[in-house]
Amino acid sequence: MSDTIAAVATPPAKSAIGIIRISGDNAFEITKKVFSGDISEPRKMVTGKILSETGEVCDYGMGVFFKAPASFTGEDSAELYCHGSTAVLRTVLSALFHAGARPAVAGEFTRRAFLNGKMDLTQAEAVIDLIDSETELAAKNAAEQMNGRLGSEISAISSSLTSIAAEFYAFVDYPDDEIEQTERDELATRLYACADSAKALAGTYSSGRIFREGIRVALIGRPNVGKSSLLNALLGTERSIVTDIEGTTRDTVEESLRAGNVALHLIDTAGLRNADTEPERLGIARSEAAARDADIVVAVFDGSAPLDEYDMQTLALAKNSRSLCIINKNDLGTVIDRSVFGDLPIIEISAKLNVGTKAVIDKICEIFNVADIPCDGRTLTNPRHASTLIRAEERIRAAADAFSGGIYADLAVSDIEDAINILGEITGNSAQDTIINEIFSRFCVGK
Ligand code: GDP
Repeated sequence: MSDTIAAVATPPAKSAIGIIRISGDNAFEITKKVFSGDISEPRKMVTGKILSETGEVCDYGMGVFFKAPASFTGEDSAELYCHGSTAVLRTVLSALFHAGARPAVAGEFTRRAFLNGKMDLTQAEAVIDLIDSETELAAKNAAEQMNGRLGSEISAISSSLTSIAAEFYAFVDYPDDEIEQTERDELATRLYACADSAKALAGTYSSGRIFREGIRVALIGRPNVGKSSLLNALLGTERSIVTDIEGTTRDTVEESLRAGNVALHLIDTAGLRNADTEPERLGIARSEAAARDADIVVAVFDGSAPLDEYDMQTLALAKNSRSLCIINKNDLGTVIDRSVFGDLPIIEISAKLNVGTKAVIDKICEIFNVADIPCDGRTLTNPRHASTLIRAEERIRAAADAFSGGIYADLAVSDIEDAINILGEITGNSAQDTIINEIFSRFCVGK
């Protein structure tokens, strides 16, 4: 028995259509009380009057019924398509509550879908990723995961582990038979292959994080080299104040832009220079912190003047990070010696004239191989999946080492079982309630 829940599934704003979802054992009867159309034929959209709790017509719309288990939640469900007025939707919802439904909590529809075996946890999490996705590639990757692509990658590793464990148990059934070292080596080889698959999958997270969060770019350099000008040129706006008095950009300024399929978050930091005043000192600390937190440091230099000691501090920060060096003001001619940059990638630009700035974005995308990130659902975008896979990989490798090292094989098998359980945390086969609760709490009401 499941109680019947109802919620608005569309955003709470004026819109052409507003959709209400109803799911649970009494979905049909409850919907019938509020909607005059004949929804008895499942999956057939019909028109009808939509009624308030007092039975007055409050809208004319469409309704559809889904018979369990052929519905999103796996339960009897219905959807009402009303006009997207928040007042109408409130009225219809209260009519549904009056008829016996209760308000759904965040993520409850998807949670029911998961609990009814309609999807595994990776698919449920992909629903959130799909809703949150801001670029086409991120959406495509999430859609593939929602379709079960990631779950099947994990299941493939799990079932290899299960069959290795089963083969081992077959040996144990005949205790007189010693497991030959060649057989142990063979099992170990297969286990190492599983560990490598888990590791490779976990490794996709560094690209997947870019899908999800974009690339954080810290612009660093001493005052007046043209960081704010570069930021403005990249954004095509005047967000950061450009001035020729040193040290104006004391605070950091953060702006985002879309570069093809990724978001670039540009952080303009205060100039790196001697901390003679408190705000400047804080600015420098921020500069260093931004460089530390960023995915890439864009170190800006004024190419028309010789490098000074502060430029050398910038260069040192750049050399310690993934970075790109910008020789700015090339409209004034370049006097600096490029050899000081060593192997660091360099681009010459004029931020003021907006010449070469597009190359900066292209180079950043090239450094992160943005064009080559696969979006077929095998790119992990969820840190939980990545860290769980790494835990599983450790156990699998321990089992493989035990087999190949001739250690008592029972220990190896308990490592394999641990690994299977850990992988189950990703798909939901063995996830604890706390993990499941945490995941569904991130959903919106109505999803
Ligand atoms: P920041 O302190 O590093 O943020 O530097 P700003 O962007 O505020 O620029 C400092 C000064 O340099 C301003 O007067 C800018 O107009 C000037 N400037 C910035 N980029 C260029 C450039 O490419 N060429 C020339 N000639 N001047 C520039």
